[in-house]
Amino acid sequence: MPAASRLIVVSNRAPVEMVRGPEGLRAVRTVGGLAGALDDALRAHGGLWIAWVGVEAGDELPAGTAGLPYPIRPVRLKEREVNNYYAGFANQGLWPLCHAFPSRCRFQANYWAAYRHANERFAAAVQAVVRPRDLVWLHDFHLCLVPGLLRAAGVPASVGVFWHIPFPPPTVFGICRWRAELLSGLLGADLIAFQTEPDVRNFLESVRQFLGVPVSDAPARVRLPEREVGVFAHPIGIDYETFRAHGSDATVQTKAARLRTTLGAEVVMLGVDRLDYTKGILERLRGYERFLERRPEWRRRVCLVQVAVPSRDRLPDYRDMKRSIDEAVGRIVGRFTSEGHPPLQYVYTALAREQLAAYYAAADIALVTPLRDGMNLVAKEYVASRAAREDGVLVLSEFAGAARELREAVIVNPYDVEAICRGLDIAVDMPPDERRRRMRALDRRVATRDLAWWTRIFLARLAAAGPPAASAA
Ligand code: UDP
Repeated sequence: MPAASRLIVVSNRAPVEMVRGPEGLRAVRTVGGLAGALDDALRAHGGLWIAWVGVEAGDELPAGTAGLPYPIRPVRLKEREVNNYYAGFANQGLWPLCHAFPSRCRFQANYWAAYRHANERFAAAVQAVVRPRDLVWLHDFHLCLVPGLLRAAGVPASVGVFWHIPFPPPTVFGICRWRAELLSGLLGADLIAFQTEPDVRNFLESVRQFLGVPVSDAPARVRLPEREVGVFAHPIGIDYETFRAHGSDATVQTKAARLRTTLGAEVVMLGVDRLDYTKGILERLRGYERFLERRPEWRRRVCLVQVAVPSRDRLPDYRDMKRSIDEAVGRIVGRFTSEGHPPLQYVYTALAREQLAAYYAAADIALVTPLRDGMNLVAKEYVASRAAREDGVLVLSEFAGAARELREAVIVNPYDVEAICRGLDIAVDMPPDERRRRMRALDRRVATRDLAWWTRIFLARLAAAGPPAASAA
């Protein structure tokens, strides 16, 4: 890595948010594993983070703000711009499109105009600070047009994109009338990484169909007339050591034991999700309900804890879904509570990492059954938290990116209520030896491909993929 190379991380949200309280404006640290990994990378390389941090941001948050060891350059966007770009084009257009829910897509011209404008603001923020040899690392679907804008401006740095969510097949991606602009924008990058091989294939096929540009499979790349864009599958990992340590921490164990006593169940099941229609919470609850119908002997012995983190609750689709989930929870509790034992606990809040660790430690079985998910970090965090005791069962959707790596989980089709119910049967009946064998295998994979591995490999490839000035040592 050349000494002068800095890392510039660019993402929609930063690891801090500016909030106005009674004592004025202050920076509040936001939770999330990715920020931790990029923290380490930024410490190692030196660099800065460019992001939107709220409507009241100043010009720069210097290193030291909220304890972060690098500066943040805020991108200024007005509230209406954020509504149309982020809540509009990103969350109501690209999010459902990429998760293969085309009927939920709202592609409006004003959303698209705001998305373009926001991407121009992000690109301008990069241009204002970038130097030759820098590594610019863009994150996710909010910033598709930024690589193209940087390329057009002749920015002399290596530009890489990590796409965190799924990339849909061309039959779905093609629904978006701005598909060519989005793809061309992304191809401004030197390197684009996706979570899984199918995402890579879908992207290459969309480029071939909608731009008429030749692509190759092995190694995967897009062959533009003047240069090539490298593409690869690179599944994101977690901060393994922290979750493993939490799993064997005495305080966490005490909290977990208290939780189990309160729940009063022999077997504790756990679901942890943002309240999003992609997460399959309603389908999971129906699968659990079927299990309780079919296996009455379990009604007093089992409890499912469903943690649902409030999310995007100003959007109508999310409000409707919340109502349906509330109804399902009420129905299941009403039908199956016996002798004061409810077989379901619904927790509608965001938990801090230490609290979440106690839930992972308390859970004999984790239900991770999204209808579609780029990766799903909860699945990997559960495995890492259970590593020390080598026990626990992961029931995992075949449509989560994580299913490609975590093959020893009980794999289910999350759309099929009967399949979820069968998965629960397998989980509660699994003998201890088999639980241990599967958990060991899962743990090995999660431990090896952790967040540090993910960052290291991406940055090494990015340094090698860019213009000669960026890759020269
Ligand atoms: N999480 C959390 N508190 C909660 C629930 C979840 O901090 O109450 C974290 C969890 O540890 C995980 C992330 O939120 O790191 C969720 O990531 P995932 O990939 O499972 O889903 P996403 O919400 O990114 O779609």
